[in-house]
Amino acid sequence: MRKILFFFLVILCISFTYRGAELLYESASYRETYYTHNFNREKLLEIAEEYKYLYENYSKTKYAPISAYRRACIFNNLYRRYKLPHYKSEVVKSLKLLIENYPESWVTKVARRKFRQIIVIPPKRYTVVVDPGHGGKDPGAIGIRGVKEKDIVLKIAREVKKELSRKGIDVYLTRKTDAFIPLSERARIANEKGADVFVSIHCNACNNKKVRGVSTWILNATSDKRAIEIAARENNVPVEKMDDINKIILSLIQSAKLNISKKLAYYVQKDIVRELHGASQGLGVRQAPFYVLVDTRMPSILVEALFVTNPSDARLLSKRAYRRRIAKGISEGIVKFLKERGNVISKSRVTLFK
Ligand SMILES: [Zn+2]
Repeated sequence: MRKILFFFLVILCISFTYRGAELLYESASYRETYYTHNFNREKLLEIAEEYKYLYENYSKTKYAPISAYRRACIFNNLYRRYKLPHYKSEVVKSLKLLIENYPESWVTKVARRKFRQIIVIPPKRYTVVVDPGHGGKDPGAIGIRGVKEKDIVLKIAREVKKELSRKGIDVYLTRKTDAFIPLSERARIANEKGADVFVSIHCNACNNKKVRGVSTWILNATSDKRAIEIAARENNVPVEKMDDINKIILSLIQSAKLNISKKLAYYVQKDIVRELHGASQGLGVRQAPFYVLVDTRMPSILVEALFVTNPSDARLLSKRAYRRRIAKGISEGIVKFLKERGNVISKSRVTLFK
């Protein structure tokens, strides 16, 4: 009696596991052939259909998500090999099904990771407004051998535009020629273009000809005498008036913009210094009340690219290769910043399959 019972138990076990085993075997064999043979399109489609069948007929079993996942894998292979957008939509369909029906399954987790690149919505086109300081009747700082800040910064800004455009970013200059544009107008342009980043480009100056280096600035009130002097020059107002401006700035400042601008400034400063290969000093990220940064509604910085009053810095600025390095540093810093922000946004979005 015991023997018969045991026998029945074995039969029962086999019949229970059989379906699963059969499915597992099929899945395993498909996986093997899928990876070891170079199938043509028709064969791959056939296998994908098989998986569809498996998924539909065993949709209540634990193998269902694996079927859906493998189907997505095959379509992805087809999509990548034959570059047919139709297959991309098939991948998305399979994964959507997978993620909707099995949100907690490990396959879903793998799928999310593996297919992130192909599922993500087309990348947003970013807009950067580059502001070459001064222009026209306002020459900016006058440096060694009468070199004018307004001329150098326009050249650097053009290089920045080239670099960023190459990376698929829409770039606008606040001035393309030697024209005078009021500071408020520059901010207005940035807001109107819906810029993601605003960068104002300047060159520094100092009575002490030994002072040199590159610094990146964000808008803030300050009590630092040297910083106030620089901001007074860039704002085109006497230093005595800066006290009032300091107070106004303090009341205007939005802390969200300040924090995000600080991050942008660190990236840009770091990349310019790296691009200069130690040819000049890095003076770090600083804060001062710059008019041009007040009204912009996006992360905004002001770069003081070297000193026109320092012989070594002035020599670097006179060379196209170094102006390009500065421009490259600015561009790379901006791109890093935008990339990081882009990721932060897409992670919190639920538009995975739109
Ligand atoms: Zn300037």
